[in-house]
Amino acid sequence: MGRRVHAGKPRNIDWKTVYQAPFLCTKITKLIAFQFKLLHRRLATNISLTKVNLKDNEQCTFCQNDRETLIHLVWTCDVSSLFWQGFKQWGINREEFPNIINLTPCLILGLKPNKNKSIDFYFLIARFFIWTCKMRNISPKIENFSPFLSRYDTTYAIS
Ligand SMILES: [Zn+2]
Repeated sequence: MGRRVHAGKPRNIDWKTVYQAPFLCTKITKLIAFQFKLLHRRLATNISLTKVNLKDNEQCTFCQNDRETLIHLVWTCDVSSLFWQGFKQWGINREEFPNIINLTPCLILGLKPNKNKSIDFYFLIARFFIWTCKMRNISPKIENFSPFLSRYDTTYAIS
């Protein structure tokens, strides 16, 4: 279990479904590969980059307040949390999400696939958006999400 992302109640996670989920919601290879790396913790955070001397410190790219673990970067960081709140509202406004949707760690990290595959798709691309912002050293802001999304063919989202 060591290399997998721990969140929520790991015992309740159906890993087979979790690994299949990206293939069922998109045909965009980049997104499928990204989720695979996330699940295997193969994404280089500032913690791992510091270990190999590619960064000077382990602090989070977005907030600079905490060590940049993958969980912190994607979920618990104040900056990312604010993005997720905005993202939730964005999805509700566009009627892509139900009015009552809980931002649980499992949903945010892709550990609890939905019956509605377009929800899986949007959460996957939002996760990838956060990662892309980290790589560019900029904060993930909800106003930048729609332009980011428009670069991808969302008709690939299988609903
Ligand atoms: Zn942070």
